[in-house]
Amino acid sequence: MNNYETQDNVEKTTAQSPYLYSRKSDNQQTTISLGSKVLGSEKVLFLAGPCSVESKQQMIDIAYELKEMGVTALRGGAYKPRTSPYSFQGHGEKALEWLAEVREKTGLAIVTEIMDPHLVPLFEQYVDVLQIGSRNMQNFVLLKSVGKSKLPVLLKRGMSSTIQEFLLASEYVLSQGNPNVILCERGIRTFENATRNTFDINAIPVLREKTHLPILADPSHGTGNSKYVLAVSRGAVAAGADGLLIEVHASPEEALSDGDQSITPQEFRKLVEEIGSIAHAVNRTI
Ligand code: PEP
Ligand code: MN
Repeated sequence: MNNYETQDNVEKTTAQSPYLYSRKSDNQQTTISLGSKVLGSEKVLFLAGPCSVESKQQMIDIAYELKEMGVTALRGGAYKPRTSPYSFQGHGEKALEWLAEVREKTGLAIVTEIMDPHLVPLFEQYVDVLQIGSRNMQNFVLLKSVGKSKLPVLLKRGMSSTIQEFLLASEYVLSQGNPNVILCERGIRTFENATRNTFDINAIPVLREKTHLPILADPSHGTGNSKYVLAVSRGAVAAGADGLLIEVHASPEEALSDGDQSITPQEFRKLVEEIGSIAHAVNRTI
């Protein structure tokens, strides 16, 4: 490895000339407006929805249900990064139009993943937050292009990335003039195979110490199993996450992607209630 890129050297550079992501004082905190709420405040926010946008009616139905449960932002993939090229790839632009219609009807903010830098202007017409997926965390061309957008960027941690690499990926966006980056811990690859990924709870306090950017937890991808989503959500909020990104599907067994890790609206209602108690215990609200 080039010596300039070693962990030590990156840390030294930080000390001499702080990165834009770095926390300069204990109370420095970036806040980002989402719908009618603010991420990075004392309120723990919920961002939820199916992994993929499957139909307009599906999104309308789930959006009303989730809104009534206190969700701030609806998430759903229009362009899906699938491991196999033969798996469902998303409904693309049509799905963006449906999402915009749902926003119109419900007032929920819309979060969706962008994979192609050329599509930033298209996404800007339809959505509120640009999600960069785990597989693209170090797609530097994409990071620079969303860094020029006015929309907030939800950056997911690369599945094999260190926290330092994650923060430097956020710096690519910040350095282009976009100050609104949301970091999302979504689990990393380890030797453990009882779960899809290993949710790195350590990342939450480490990020809190190093950066003023808001921190989300995604226990759906972090575990890959709907049975564990509630427990890991509790842990993430207790550890200091500013919000949860949760996959919710009306009938997970029929989902076109990530059904195994999707919880039902009924399970989500229980999760919101339980997270209310955890938030209270750490001096926050929902
Ligand atoms: C997703 O949010 O559905 C997704 C593809 O997540 P990740 O990039 O974390 O795998
Ligand atoms: Mn998913």
